[in-house]
Amino acid sequence: MKAMIGLEIHVQMTEAGSKLFCDCKANYRGMEPNSNICPVCIGLPGALPVVNKRSVELALAASLAFNCHVPDYIVFTRKHYFYPDLPKNYQISMYERAGGVPICRGGKVRYLDIHSWEWKECRLRRINIEEDPGRTIYGEGGILRSSEAYVDYNRSGVPLLEIITEPDLKSAREARQLVEYVLLVLEYLGATNPRLEGAFRVDANVSVEGGERVEVKNIGSTLDVEKAINFEIMRQSAIISSGGKVERETRHWDAERGSTRPLRQKEQEEDYLYFPDPDLPAIALRDMLPKAKAIASSSDPAALFEKAISLGVQRELAWSMVTARPSLMLYLEAVERGADPQLAARIIAVDYKGELREREKDPHDPANWPSADTIVELSRLMKEGAYTYDAIKGIVLPKLAENPAADLKLLLPQRAENLEQVIEEVLKREERAVKDYLSGKAQALNYLVGAVIRAAGKRALDPRAIREAIERRLAKK
Ligand SMILES: [Zn+2]
Repeated sequence: MKAMIGLEIHVQMTEAGSKLFCDCKANYRGMEPNSNICPVCIGLPGALPVVNKRSVELALAASLAFNCHVPDYIVFTRKHYFYPDLPKNYQISMYERAGGVPICRGGKVRYLDIHSWEWKECRLRRINIEEDPGRTIYGEGGILRSSEAYVDYNRSGVPLLEIITEPDLKSAREARQLVEYVLLVLEYLGATNPRLEGAFRVDANVSVEGGERVEVKNIGSTLDVEKAINFEIMRQSAIISSGGKVERETRHWDAERGSTRPLRQKEQEEDYLYFPDPDLPAIALRDMLPKAKAIASSSDPAALFEKAISLGVQRELAWSMVTARPSLMLYLEAVERGADPQLAARIIAVDYKGELREREKDPHDPANWPSADTIVELSRLMKEGAYTYDAIKGIVLPKLAENPAADLKLLLPQRAENLEQVIEEVLKREERAVKDYLSGKAQALNYLVGAVIRAAGKRALDPRAIREAIERRLAKK
């Protein structure tokens, strides 16, 4: 059955430094409950909000990145409702009516479908800047079953981008790809770290032909975006196929059970009693535009992806680098400084990344990557034929992954100047092993390689090169 899907993606601007209207931290992870709070973000009487300009700048950069109509000024609105995690009884948000002016109206996201390698488009309705409420933590059984709830206000007031799409998406997979791409753009802009716990939440509006729109709330990962929407499409299709009616409602995604449950009837928007926040003057955007434009144009993942492709990198490898920003930045810098584009891509996107994976080191942490100088030097050594790719891959990359800041000179296999001479001496001395090898005992070769390494007194010799040298010599006999 044909489906129509629209999303509301709430992304915390975890990298904005402070909360939206006070100096408490935007990233509260690892803090004691209710320790990242102040009179403003717990709504004490008389406390006044002062906007964090960095959040507005980042939101403006996001609006530009998504081709939005940017207004001359923005106006925050109050959205009223009662909930224990909302101490003011209203959330400072944005609205396109009732005097509010959101940071973006219209616009579109061009996102990559990595299954078909096609660029697709999804229109945006608007982007709002708003504050996150506090966190309600339920006892055993979660929101649907527990009779206990605790409130932690560390999150209260964290700047959020609420990105609302038009219902242009046709499948759960498309929806997931869109969310992944939006998060990637926001990460490149320096607005968020989507891998932090709770950094984003998605609500999905799903309808199938002949039925009402159902809102699914509480989707916390991109994998769950796909699962929740697939579940909803199947549930609604089954109702319609059996002659039933899909009612308009709000449902809760239960990730543990892999199903959606009814939550409450959807309020109408008017119920929220929106009006412009009298404590916050309108903010003119003109002065912020140049900086936001610079951020948006220098950190566009699509453009950087195309740049890697134009250097001759396979799209799969290029995309693999795009999805781990430090690796892409390292790659582009290394190539600019003279590294061979193919060799550098193979090292960075395939073998070094594999070493990181094996050690469970995070490829998104720049500290886990070597310097561009190291990549340039490795590329030069291979180009000049000083080392084979296998020697670099087998000997250097594992050590580099252990310690990316290590001095490359100390990691490189030594090329003993007198290697040929050492081999000759060893072959003379190890008559028996040579005889064994010549009579067909393959493992004697391993013994000889070890003997050469010991004789050379240098542990980092390239065993493969030694093996080949020995084979060459003995082949003449
Ligand atoms: Zn605060």
